[in-house]
Amino acid sequence: MEDQVIIGLEVHCQLDTKSKLFCGCSTDYRSDGPNTHVCPVCLGLPGAMPVLNKRSIEYAMRVAKALNCMVLEESEFSRKNYFYPDLDKAYQITQYDKPLAEGGYLEIESDEGGEKKVQLTRIHVEEDPGRLVHMGNAERGKYSLVDYNRAGIPLIEIVSEPDMRSPKEARKFLNKLRATLEYLSVFDSDKEGSLRVDANISIKGSERVEVKNITSYKGVEKALTFEITRQKNLLRRGQKVDRETRHFLEARGVTQSARSKEQEHDYRYFPEPDLRPLRVKSWVDAIVLPELPDARRGRFMAQYGCSLNHARTLTGDLKLANFFEQVVRGDPAGLSGLAATWIADTLIGELNYRDMSLDRVEPAAVTELVEILKNDLITDKSGIEVLRIMLDQCLKNESCETPAAIVTHLNLGKTTGDTGAITTAIEEAINENPKALDDYRAGKAGALNFLVGQVMKKTRGKADPGTLNRLLTEALKTRGA
Ligand SMILES: [Zn+2]
Repeated sequence: MEDQVIIGLEVHCQLDTKSKLFCGCSTDYRSDGPNTHVCPVCLGLPGAMPVLNKRSIEYAMRVAKALNCMVLEESEFSRKNYFYPDLDKAYQITQYDKPLAEGGYLEIESDEGGEKKVQLTRIHVEEDPGRLVHMGNAERGKYSLVDYNRAGIPLIEIVSEPDMRSPKEARKFLNKLRATLEYLSVFDSDKEGSLRVDANISIKGSERVEVKNITSYKGVEKALTFEITRQKNLLRRGQKVDRETRHFLEARGVTQSARSKEQEHDYRYFPEPDLRPLRVKSWVDAIVLPELPDARRGRFMAQYGCSLNHARTLTGDLKLANFFEQVVRGDPAGLSGLAATWIADTLIGELNYRDMSLDRVEPAAVTELVEILKNDLITDKSGIEVLRIMLDQCLKNESCETPAAIVTHLNLGKTTGDTGAITTAIEEAINENPKALDDYRAGKAGALNFLVGQVMKKTRGKADPGTLNRLLTEALKTRGA
């Protein structure tokens, strides 16, 4: 039997609040210079008192409720003591033995295709440390700079049970988690560094390895895949897997053992004396959740007739789901079938290929394209061409033409001599009527007229008769008639 892979994740997400967790400093620091969003509290100056940001607790509770967790009657902040240059106070305010919430689960699509529940251990709230910028490369760095703009940004840490069985399931868990957080309006995945992952990974029966600080969605799957191969190779050679912490080197796609002294921490946790315990149980009951990804997926299937796969893709990203609904708004019954296919199967691929954000595309333009396709004015092949031209123009910030303008401009309309569509119709007509082909070969004049009629029907009379006759005669000739 294949070795069983066991994966658990610890996910740190920045909550998208306006100000930091314990002070009034703005969290909108990314376009500003280093150490410009700081005050005595987040700089950890002696005597500065933390004041809890109510909004960040509300955001964390929304997440706990959406993930089916149990919010504890009383939770507590603790000091986690350690020294590192990005941690100015020499302790991090976090939650330890009394976290905000425990239990809960997130449903993902399993590798076998069904739904599976990934159980959660806990969710707690903590402050982000600052950020170190190493000058020079890793081997020959001369010095490091520290930026405390990030220090004190509210984080939630979501800890899962070791319920995932492959890197793919881990990626699905993160995608679903990201979608859920975005639906809750508590998280902005576009912000750099807004999500960081530590992964625990083992092969059943062997020691567990922790891979620290993976900072991208793609990185998680890569790091896990590398680590599984490494562990399996060790076991195959009769060696054992050491219980250790490893770092993921994103640029090289490998994990590397952390020095052993980094592993043996004694954080000397104790309750944070400057903050009172949190009692939020009654508050959490009053929180009303918005429609979440699973509910929206069900609605897309019921309301728009989307297939499970299309509904899953479209609702797996808040912006995409909103985009789809904007595209079909004017005529849901008429447009949703085609729109789902064109957005989920074609548009996403073309955007990924260009590394282009959906924000650059006007829903109205896609509506127009889908209407043109629905009215059968162009072929699917032309549809893809129109879409590609449109995206390329948007990407270059040229004055974007509308799909209708592109169709006219490139003469793609079936009525104006789209020989591609006529050729397709001819091929179909011949393939569907082998008897007519035989009759034509046998010299029966009626056979040609019959085929012309079939092609006309397929192109809804939009094929130019002269072009049709010429192409049909050529097609018959290539078949030896
Ligand atoms: Zn501050």
